[in-house]
Amino acid sequence: MSQTKILKSSESSVKPRALGAGRFLVRLLVLSVVSFILLIGVAWAFGALWFDFPISVLRRPLAAVFGLGAIAALVFVRPRWRAQLGVAGAIVLVAAWELTIPPSNTRDWQPQVAEAPYVEFQGDRVVIHSFRNFDYLSKTEFRPRWETKIVQLSNLRAVDFFTNFWGPKLICHTFLSFDFGPDGYVCISIETRMAKGQNYSALAGLYRQFELYYVIGDERDIVRVRTNYRLEDVYLYRLLAATPEKARALFLEYVKSANEVHERAQWYNELTSNCTSNIRVHIKHIGSARPWDWQLLVNGTIAERAYELRAIDTSLPFAELKRLSYIDERARAADRDPAFSSRIREGLPGIHEAWFTPPPDANRTAKFIVLLYHRFEDRPAELVTTPNDFRAQLKALKDNGISVISMQDLLAWRKGEKAIPSKSAVITIDDEWNSQYYVAWPILKEFGYPFTLFIYTQWVNTGGKSTTWAQLAEMRDAGADIEAHTVSHHDLRHAPRAQDYTTWLHNEVYGCKETLENKLGVKIIALAFPYGFHNEVVRKTAKEAGYEMQFTVYGRRMDINVPADQIGRYAIDSLKGDVFKAALDFGTTDSTQPGVETSQLASAAMLTEPLNDQRITEPKPTIKANLASMGDVDPKSVEMRISGFGLVPAVYDPKTKLVTYAFTQKLVPKMYIVILTAKVNGKKVETRWDFTVDPAGLIATDQ
Ligand SMILES: [Zn+2]
Repeated sequence: MSQTKILKSSESSVKPRALGAGRFLVRLLVLSVVSFILLIGVAWAFGALWFDFPISVLRRPLAAVFGLGAIAALVFVRPRWRAQLGVAGAIVLVAAWELTIPPSNTRDWQPQVAEAPYVEFQGDRVVIHSFRNFDYLSKTEFRPRWETKIVQLSNLRAVDFFTNFWGPKLICHTFLSFDFGPDGYVCISIETRMAKGQNYSALAGLYRQFELYYVIGDERDIVRVRTNYRLEDVYLYRLLAATPEKARALFLEYVKSANEVHERAQWYNELTSNCTSNIRVHIKHIGSARPWDWQLLVNGTIAERAYELRAIDTSLPFAELKRLSYIDERARAADRDPAFSSRIREGLPGIHEAWFTPPPDANRTAKFIVLLYHRFEDRPAELVTTPNDFRAQLKALKDNGISVISMQDLLAWRKGEKAIPSKSAVITIDDEWNSQYYVAWPILKEFGYPFTLFIYTQWVNTGGKSTTWAQLAEMRDAGADIEAHTVSHHDLRHAPRAQDYTTWLHNEVYGCKETLENKLGVKIIALAFPYGFHNEVVRKTAKEAGYEMQFTVYGRRMDINVPADQIGRYAIDSLKGDVFKAALDFGTTDSTQPGVETSQLASAAMLTEPLNDQRITEPKPTIKANLASMGDVDPKSVEMRISGFGLVPAVYDPKTKLVTYAFTQKLVPKMYIVILTAKVNGKKVETRWDFTVDPAGLIATDQ
């Protein structure tokens, strides 16, 4: 009927025909819009079944049946409204079901997201649990390290935001870092929490695939993994809009959400609950008048927008600011430096220098000791500690209020970057005996203590009682610190027969570091001298090779002023119980004693002055030795002899364990041998060393 009508009217006039075509166009438009919406719904529901349907083998078939069925219905079923209603109903059903899928906090998580951080408040004190501070070896390899970080809320003074471009220029990941001044930075990044076997995809991110995750951690983890390992572009801007009050409110908002996620899992959603949308929500919540118009999907220009709104520094043209804000090069140069956060901010406008200068009072009055172990066997012997003694000693440290800290923390403290407890100890273990892996490591794990292994590379993987590279890698992965103990374990002061000293020494010092760094993908920062022997050339060479700390074998309590190239260690074994006791007493001597230097002789861990092998310029020297590590010395038995002089009236102080003799006459330039004897547990012990009075040196100092 209507067709005839249209045909007829088309013949009669133009106007009605136009009206008919208009009605047709409107209907077409409505149909298109409805179909478009329904198709988006079908596509979404298709994806929901494809990704989320509980029975995995049915996911694809079901999604296919649904998708094809819906399209077929829309194309073939008439009247059309019936098909449209049916398809809409099916989409609603899928959506309703999708909403009932519960997020979980208890999947088999990937190790990077294994722990969900949470935060406790104790007045001004903020205790952050599961603070992530992984050390990365490559994009995918890392040593997990979950820390407990404590900051004072009143120290929070600024907020920085990062934009992180991993590929497309229009989209970036954004995250924040809170500047707690002397307590360092707390970086928070909102990400997906992925279970083992999952891979991120933006499409899957639209569905119930990934739980929401708040990474709270160190910038050396969250920033460095992006700049130094994934090699992504990262920019850093200080949020000038965040006054301390706003910064505080924002931090509390973040923490509240992180705690909620810790309590009850939430879904991540690519569109509605992603890194940027959550930041926007947080900023809104703190009542900011203009939470910026965060672009949800196309957020690559977020920094430009912040610049327009004067939320970041505007003293420079944006292009220039952006150039300075690119932190990758500085991050790569800083690498594992504890001053990483300071170094990536160097030269950034809006960040006042004083804001990142390490505070002068990072507990500079703390004292520390370093313990040295070798083998772990059931029968006590020289250099052997029994498992029982070891366990008892680790417990004794705890019972005596001595905190075990890592080598990295010791270095950070020395650089003024980090505070350490006022009584701290570093545990070091030398010479890669495999009993370290089989016996000591499990015991250390019981206590959760960090420790350092000093390795001389030549002996690794040689069978017998030596540790393998695989075992070292396994311990490294679990957080053990690996450092250098030369290539051959030869006394560094003398080259082996027929070898050029300089070339040989260079290889021992540089070669060991390089081998360890290459084999294990670590950064070596410390060197332990074999037998504790060293001289000026050795120390200088090691310093040039990049060792930031050098260790002798003379036990004593030390403070922040101890020279970096002569850090002493108490050599512990089950025969010399007194050495550990002396360590536990936290030493009886102080490293601040002027002019005291360290060395160890083969038979006993001992400090002497002058050092063994040293050339001195002073013609009337004072000879000193510290017997603290010799064990239970009978005070009356201590005797000092000097070549050309015989027995000298040296004075022994049982309190400081120092034996001292000051020459009252000038010595002629030559070499002198000092022989020291004492009774230890009824047994006579002798040790000797030499020094040279150097006439050339005398002339040099006289000038
Ligand atoms: Zn050794």
